[in-house]
Amino acid sequence: MPTLLAPGGSREMAAAAVDEGADVVYVGPLGWSRRPAESEMTDDDIKSAIDYAGARGRQVRIVLNTFPSTFEMDDFLAKVQRYADYGCSGFIVTDPGAIALIRRMLPETVIHVSIGSGITNAWDARFYRDLGADMIILPYRWGETEVEQVSRCSDIGLEVFLFETIQTGKICPGKCIMSSYLKYREWLPAEGKGESFGSANRGAKECYRVCQVQWDFTSGSEAAQSLKLRRDARLMLDQLPRMLALGVECFKLSGRERPTPMIRDLVRFYRKVLDGIVDGSRLDMGVYGEDLAVLRSRWIVEKNKRVDNLMSRATPAEVAAPRWGTA
Ligand code: SF4
Repeated sequence: MPTLLAPGGSREMAAAAVDEGADVVYVGPLGWSRRPAESEMTDDDIKSAIDYAGARGRQVRIVLNTFPSTFEMDDFLAKVQRYADYGCSGFIVTDPGAIALIRRMLPETVIHVSIGSGITNAWDARFYRDLGADMIILPYRWGETEVEQVSRCSDIGLEVFLFETIQTGKICPGKCIMSSYLKYREWLPAEGKGESFGSANRGAKECYRVCQVQWDFTSGSEAAQSLKLRRDARLMLDQLPRMLALGVECFKLSGRERPTPMIRDLVRFYRKVLDGIVDGSRLDMGVYGEDLAVLRSRWIVEKNKRVDNLMSRATPAEVAAPRWGTA
């Protein structure tokens, strides 16, 4: 059976995802999971989410996908041990050193390689397998050919986003450093990192989604060329049966920052679709067309709201907004 992995940006969202049939929910501790504080959780909330899921036969994985410095590593590993003691079933991690350390500490836990690792080929996936990871999320630029290549190269578990493959784009998510630009945000006292600043990749709360707004590029006196660095992701459907046939084990729904009702509806939808493929009762994806169109449109509306919100936080007060492009 494939795993439906759903976001838990809050206790309510985690519970809704479990209630609608997610097999596993992922949650991020404050300051350690590359998301705004409002989409991360305190340790108490994480414990509640683990208890809630466990009581219903489901699991929680912890997103620890920032890059911890040498000085943070003890805190990082203390957190790993705390969540393991709470009963989480695994971790989503980016940093290679951290992956190796977690594997040594907890031989039985499940380690997913986060999208932040920015792999570019099948041999990168094999590198993470050799390091001790169990699962790797594939970039959603990757289609069936790449999935087949990774399977041939390594026995690491395959995970894909529930987004259609998009093979165009001008940046490589995971290797992007733009989260550091525009403005650093202070870490919060509750995160226990002291008076520090940093980029989202280091845990300072948020990437401003610079890649998702329209930018005007000019050269000398030439007219501005307007473009976006990344295309919008579209929820997956038609590719699902083939991904399953290729051995993809885990389907990840993104969206810790989305509204809980939207995540609830998406989990319900994908639970039905996956179950229908696995038991053979619904192999024609065409029957979901209308439902999917509604969900896709809600997804885009929410995505645009979130990007506008983040970019408004990123614009320095002393700089006129047009200089940063138009959202
Ligand atoms: S700017 Fe875009 S690609 Fe870069 S880190 Fe942020 S969301 Fe990822």
